[in-house]
Amino acid sequence: MELYKLTAHELNNLLVEKKASSFEITTSIYERIEKLNKKINSYITLTKELALQKAEKVDKKISKGEKISSISGIPIAIKDVISTRDIRTTCGSKILSNYIPIYDATVIEKFKKEDVIILGKTNMDEFAMGSSTENSAYGVCRNPWNTSTIPGGSSGGSAACVAADFAIMSLGSDTGGSIRQPASMCGVVGLKPTYGRVSRYGLVAFASSLDQIGTFTKDIEDCAILLNMIAGHDPMDSTSVVKEVPNYTQYLKNDAQKVKVGIPKEYFVKGTDKEVEKAILNSIETFKKLGAEIVEVSLPHTEYAVAAYYIIAPAEASSNLARYDGVHYGFRTENRGHLPASQQAGKTEDRKISSIVDMYEKTRDEGFGEEVKRRIMLGTYALSSGYYEAYYLKALKVRTLIKNDFDKAFKKCDVIVTPVSPTPAFKIGEKISDPLQMYLSDIFTIPVNLAGLPAISIPCGFSKGGLPIGLQIIGKPFDEGQILRTAYTFEQNTEYHNKKPKI
Ligand code: GLN
Repeated sequence: MELYKLTAHELNNLLVEKKASSFEITTSIYERIEKLNKKINSYITLTKELALQKAEKVDKKISKGEKISSISGIPIAIKDVISTRDIRTTCGSKILSNYIPIYDATVIEKFKKEDVIILGKTNMDEFAMGSSTENSAYGVCRNPWNTSTIPGGSSGGSAACVAADFAIMSLGSDTGGSIRQPASMCGVVGLKPTYGRVSRYGLVAFASSLDQIGTFTKDIEDCAILLNMIAGHDPMDSTSVVKEVPNYTQYLKNDAQKVKVGIPKEYFVKGTDKEVEKAILNSIETFKKLGAEIVEVSLPHTEYAVAAYYIIAPAEASSNLARYDGVHYGFRTENRGHLPASQQAGKTEDRKISSIVDMYEKTRDEGFGEEVKRRIMLGTYALSSGYYEAYYLKALKVRTLIKNDFDKAFKKCDVIVTPVSPTPAFKIGEKISDPLQMYLSDIFTIPVNLAGLPAISIPCGFSKGGLPIGLQIIGKPFDEGQILRTAYTFEQNTEYHNKKPKI
C-alpha cells in the first residue's frame, strides 16, 4: 500500500486498527522525499532521525493499547517561519541560516503533546515576503503539477509537499494570501483562520497585525482535524482570542440547503484569467444546484486593498526585522579586514568592519535578500516623520473601510465566494523582476487579512495546461465552521480534489 498517498483520517484508522504503523507511514514518506524532492525543493531541513524515533514511540503506545489522538503518529511538515526547538529555523533567509531556536511555537508544543511526527521545515519566500517561493535563500521551490512553474508563495514549500505526497499535512502562515494562493496553485486545501484563532507565539513576525498560522491538507476533513489541534487561546499571545473552540469535524455535513453564498461583483474584474473566471462561475453554478441561495454583494473598497497592504505590511515588517542585527540572532558579516589581500573575498575596504554600525549594515546587506530590503525601505519611508500621516495613517483608515465593507456584506450572506488568484501558477522567473505584477497576484486574498477574517482555498478546476485552480470561501469572524461545511459540501459533490500531479 502506498501509505504516503493517504489522508490523516485514513491513516488514523489504519493506526488504530493496527493495519499500519507510524514507522511504516513515516518511512514511506521519507522514501518518496528522497527519491523525488530534488525536482521540487519543498524542504529546507529534514529531521528524519527525530521523526523515526517519535514514530516508534507512538507505535509502542498503540501496541500497549493506549488511546491516540486523530493526528498522533501522522507525519506533518512545518513552514520554516515557525519556531522549533533544537531544529534550525531559517525563515528562508541567509540571515537565519544558523539559527537554532531554544523554544517551540505554541502550535509545535501542541503537536508534541499529541505525538505528531515532524518531517522537517519547508521552503518559503524569505520572511514570508512573496507570492512564488522564488525569494528563498535556499533555492526556488517548484510546482509538482508542472516543475517549470512556481508553487505560489510564500508558503510554497508547505503547499508543494502536500500536493506531491511528501507530507500528509503541513502548517503555513498567511499575511496577505500565503496559504490560500499556494494551496490554489498546488491543488490542495489551505485554510487561513480568523486573526486570533490560532496562537502566533513562535511564528516569526512579518506583519504582526496580519500574520496568521494555518493549514494545508489533502481534503476538508483533514483541515477540520488539524484546525481542532491548533486553535485556541494562548496566554503567550495577547492577540489570541479567549473563545471556545468548537469541534470542527461536526461541521462536515454535505448540506448546502441553508447556505447564503455572497458573490462580490468587484472580484470579477478585468485582468482575471478567463479559465480562472470560468472555473469560479462553474463553482457558483454547482452551489446553486446543491440548493444554496446565491446573493450579489458589494465590497466597494477592494481596489484600494493592495495599496493599503503594501503600506501596512512593510511598515510592520521594517519594525519587526530591526532585530536582525548580527548580534541577537543568526548570521553576522565576517571581518576579514585583518587578513592578507589574497584571502579577502571582496574588496578589502568592503570587508573591514570599522564600527558597530558598520557591522549592522554589512550584516543586513549580506544577510537579507532583495525583496526583504525593498520592504524594509518602503516601511521605513512610510513611517518616517512627515509621511506617517500621509501614508501609514491613511492606509489604516482604508483598512477600516475594507473591514466595514465585509461587515455590511455579511449581513446579506453566510459566506463569500471569490477566486483565490487571478491566474493559475505562472512560470518561474516570469514576475520576479516586476514586483508590482507579483503584488497583484494577491488582489483577492489581501482584503481578507486586512479585515482579519477566516478563508479557505479549495480545488475547483484545472486550466487547459493542467494547472489547478482554487476557489476562495470567506467566512464571518470565527465562523470557520460555516466555511468548512460549505467547502465540504462542494468537495463531496465534485472530483477536483481526487486528481494528483504526476512527478
Ligand atoms: N504575497 C504577499 C506578500 O508578499 C503575502 C505574503 C504572505 O501572506 N506572507 O506580502
